[in-house]
Amino acid sequence: MDDLQVGVLGGGQLGRMFVEAAHCLNIKVSVLDAANAPAKQINALIEHVEGSFARAADVLALSQKCDILTVEIEHVDTKVLEEISEREPLKVQPSWQTIRIIQDKYRQKEHLIRNGIPTTESIPFGTASPQGLKEIADRLGYPFMLKSRTEAYDGRGNYPVRSVSEIEKAIATLKDRPLYVERWADFQMELAVMVVKTSSAASISSWETSTQSFPVAETVHEDSICKLTYTPARGVSKTVKSQAQELARKAVSAFEGRGVFGVEMFLLQDSSLLINEIAPRPHNSGHYTIEACHMSQYEAHLRAILPNLSNTIIPGATSLLTPNTNAIMLNVLGGPTPTSHLVVARAALTIPGAKIHLYGKAEGRPGRKMGHITLIAPTMQEAQEKIQPLINIVDAIRI
Ligand code: ATP
Ligand code: MG
Ligand code: MG
Repeated sequence: MDDLQVGVLGGGQLGRMFVEAAHCLNIKVSVLDAANAPAKQINALIEHVEGSFARAADVLALSQKCDILTVEIEHVDTKVLEEISEREPLKVQPSWQTIRIIQDKYRQKEHLIRNGIPTTESIPFGTASPQGLKEIADRLGYPFMLKSRTEAYDGRGNYPVRSVSEIEKAIATLKDRPLYVERWADFQMELAVMVVKTSSAASISSWETSTQSFPVAETVHEDSICKLTYTPARGVSKTVKSQAQELARKAVSAFEGRGVFGVEMFLLQDSSLLINEIAPRPHNSGHYTIEACHMSQYEAHLRAILPNLSNTIIPGATSLLTPNTNAIMLNVLGGPTPTSHLVVARAALTIPGAKIHLYGKAEGRPGRKMGHITLIAPTMQEAQEKIQPLINIVDAIRI
């Protein structure tokens, strides 16, 4: 389909599903991660690189093998990506600047605000002194969220502070990390929209023609970790859905480079929308697209980053669910024993319409993403009834 070889920094579950999409198009993907990483297990014909996406030498080794570089995680060495881009300007997609801004959540917020995108009020908190935090809290009120600026994922990096008595514990828990404070978002619901950017739109004026959004998903988090997504979002008006898609596209247009972006949002009590955060890559809240959309987020990412295929994502290609499709995605996390999560997967085998994705990770640990299940049905009610037994098991093994 395209002779260019793609390199991906990171070989976890997102990289694995990216490789699955690439196989369907006969496109070769080399993976940089530890030996036997999930994405390498299903991709044995290609030579991979063993190492870390946070190490310059390893990224260079991947770069030497590949025509295009992309990421499945934002916590990568962007200095070396910058150097590579100086020599080969369009090789890294999305651009190293985008990844660098997004990997620091506070910088990401500043960037959004500079571009006129509404986002949660955020205050840098460099000194890590309880007194300093109390002063910020006096201004914002309780609860508020103390967050790590960097290396954050799956809620590891978030501490919800509910009263003054929790301040010291919050600082002790996140100590040694660069921190900032976020005003609490009193949301009625969380929404997520995947956006695909098919050209390198450097100016905000060109976003209308270069970005397309997928349908609006409702996301449900527990302890800052995504548990479920419902698509289309339940009980959300057409107007709010199109506002969410428009906001997502506008936000993504503020960043350079091509590819898929995951945009997480809060729908507040007054029906206004605030951006929570943006991922410069496919995202957990877009897993449902594999079964429920004409084009999955992984295929869209692949096509968008490849120069010869980028213009094949025609308007409308990503906006639709396949007809009569309601999708629920349930994350399967590790539980109290290394194999607890398999109880959920086995139960899913008995439910017609449930599609199981296991990621090939060795041992389950509490909170570790081991797999997910997508259930599609002609009505949301039917999907909810069918998946409920699995949610019950997930709740039972949660510790
Ligand atoms: P991801 O795995 O999506 O990258 P993350 O670790 O970067 O997650 P966030 O997206 O910042 O974490 O937060 C995770 C969840 O915590 C949110 O989806 C939301 O449920 C809750 N949360 C985060 N920030 C706030 C806030 N300011 N107010 C209320 N809830 C919040
Ligand atoms: Mg995040
Ligand atoms: Mg998030």
